Amino acid sequence: MSLADLFLSLLRLIDPRLPATIVLFSPTDLWKMLVVFVITAVAVLCVHELAHLAALRTLGIPARIMLGGRREESRFWFLSPMVVHIEDQVMATMQPLQIRLAAASGPIAHLLASLACWCLGLGLPGAAWLGVGVTLCGAMYFVCCMLMNVVPLPVLKNDGWLVLRPEAALAEVRRKLGLLD
Ligand SMILES: [Zn+2]
Repeated sequence: MSLADLFLSLLRLIDPRLPATIVLFSPTDLWKMLVVFVITAVAVLCVHELAHLAALRTLGIPARIMLGGRREESRFWFLSPMVVHIEDQVMATMQPLQIRLAAASGPIAHLLASLACWCLGLGLPGAAWLGVGVTLCGAMYFVCCMLMNVVPLPVLKNDGWLVLRPEAALAEVRRKLGLLD
């Protein structure tokens, strides 16, 4: 059994509609499926960050999307290749509810987008590699979002942690600016 088939059989536990094997795909189709998978992953990631940005802009808080923006502040920066950056001075003035809303918007959009890919992918017209690529990515990204974004992880200071402990994030940024001792 190839590694890809093992991965697929694990995903079949979640979604039995997925094919039992991908050896039916030619090497060319496997590459096409991989490209579809990567494009879908980038698209869902963009949806996640754009949802954060839209929520912040709606709340009147200036922010911008950055690539590799957590490189300096986290050992796990590679887990967040794209982030929404808020200046510390701006962050320090935010209300806890504003932080909760802005933090929750990303995973909500992410879960909806990945769920749509997961549920609707196999129904896409055209070649099988297209539907399977979209569905695999949707299923994987849904589970990853649950584990990495929704479950609060203090070590990553992820979205779930920000929703749960906005006061801690505010205290940290105020301490950094010398507003608290
Ligand atoms: Zn997020």
